[in-house]
Amino acid sequence: MSENHVSAGNPDSPGRPPSSRLVEEQAAAGDLRARRFIRLVTALFLLILWSFVAYWAASSRQDAIDSTEQVLRRLDHAVEEQTRRLFKMVDVAFGAADQWVLDHPGSDPRSDRRFLHLASGFGTRLGGAITLHLADSSGNVVSPGQGLPVPKQLRDEDFFRAAVAADPSRFHIGAPLSVGSPAIWKIPVAQRLTTPTDHAAVLVALIDLSALMSLYEEERVRPNGAIVLLRRDGILLARAPHDERLLGKSLVGGQLYREFLPRSERGFALLDRTATDATEKFVSYSTMSDFPLLTVVSTATADVLEGWRRHALVIALAALAVSIVALLVARRLTEMVAVLSARTAELHHLATTDLMTGVSNRHSFLQDLYREFARSRRYRTPLSIMIFDLDFFKQINDGYGHAAGDEALRAFAAAAGECLRGMDVLGRLGGEEFGIILPSTALDQAEVVAERIRGAVTRIAIETEYGTVRFTTSVGVAQIGDDDDSVDSLLARADSALYAAKAAGRNRVIARSA
Ligand code: GH3
Ligand code: MG
Ligand code: MG
Repeated sequence: MSENHVSAGNPDSPGRPPSSRLVEEQAAAGDLRARRFIRLVTALFLLILWSFVAYWAASSRQDAIDSTEQVLRRLDHAVEEQTRRLFKMVDVAFGAADQWVLDHPGSDPRSDRRFLHLASGFGTRLGGAITLHLADSSGNVVSPGQGLPVPKQLRDEDFFRAAVAADPSRFHIGAPLSVGSPAIWKIPVAQRLTTPTDHAAVLVALIDLSALMSLYEEERVRPNGAIVLLRRDGILLARAPHDERLLGKSLVGGQLYREFLPRSERGFALLDRTATDATEKFVSYSTMSDFPLLTVVSTATADVLEGWRRHALVIALAALAVSIVALLVARRLTEMVAVLSARTAELHHLATTDLMTGVSNRHSFLQDLYREFARSRRYRTPLSIMIFDLDFFKQINDGYGHAAGDEALRAFAAAAGECLRGMDVLGRLGGEEFGIILPSTALDQAEVVAERIRGAVTRIAIETEYGTVRFTTSVGVAQIGDDDDSVDSLLARADSALYAAKAAGRNRVIARSA
């Protein structure tokens, strides 16, 4: 194929029909719109999907935390009540013992049978969970009548000193002590008698830690939950699960004491790490109003959120899979739209273009002519057309071969195209006959263009094995007139001008005004 033919693929080539360019631009715009739409719908879908996932994750996490809060608060309340009951029992025992001593000023409670009966009565009623003892003001403890193991010396214990110094109606709780052998852990409680003597100045109760422990161990949240009993000043009195090393330790430096207790005496909190272990946990804590005690029940956040995490992971993975499928579908759709619009443009090109020369085919040319004719009528602008017929074309075919003839047709189309403006339309009407539409062009200007093309055609030289092919063209030019009520009369006038050119000897331009 020759290099100087009009390329059908170049949208800026002069001579290509504007309607064809318009259709291709429309196809490209439609393609862009479809891609944007697919992108928008996909983005919206993903946005809604992930918003839903995020909303679900946040709300179900909150639900898990809320129900944990309820469980812990209820448990804390139960633990507080059971613990209070134990200390209440001590309070009652102290009250009764103090009253007895008050009522029997002459008797020595250490040896008086009635006192011994009273003291042992409390212990037996609670299955030995609490034992009642007496101490003198120097801290020596006696266990009247019962021979129970007692702490060696209480003189240096803070709770004992506080009890001796304070008024008799208040009792003082000490850090857990190990008593006897094998060692048993006891929480000591002391209260001064209203009428102390040299030998019996302070009432001492020992609460068996194992009694508390079995209560707590039974109730704590498994697997990693804990129940802790603290003295209000932060000393750890009991903890389930049991850990001896923590007994008596102060938790006052922990997050609970620093952040939450100053704000509220009871509540629900998330602790980064507790003083007793390094796990993050939810806790419910409450300070007793009647005893200097604080109960804390906790559960590890990991346990609470484990089920939620598993669900969230499954949902997130499912959403991810859906997102990937949506993206793949969107990509495939975009590709299909691109293919479709390329096909549409290609089909349109095939339907409107003369494939050999790349200019408009007859059908497309006539459609453009109808449109320009109507436009010219409506806006009263001039319109000219010209019809070309190559001279003695049969001789080219006969003398140089059909391929040379084809080459000549392409060379003509290229040469004519180069003389035209963007809005002009060049079309092949059939055989070696071409037409040109010149919108907004009067007859005299059209004649100039026709003359320029005629001249350009005389300069075409096609080299073949039989020699150089040169040829000429005859041109008929016509302008739309007031009497033209259809395209046909305009075409007929151009045609008749063409025949006149032929008759006048060919290679010339003849123009026909209306
Ligand atoms: P005139 O000057 O009177 O126009 O003489 P002419 O030979 O050009 O006129 P005629 O209509 O007798 O011949 C037209 C020729 O154009 C006949 C046909 O073989 C040739 N032709 C038509 N279409 C094609 C084509 O696509 N390729 C080639 N190579 N030749 C074509
Ligand atoms: Mg002809
Ligand atoms: Mg001819």
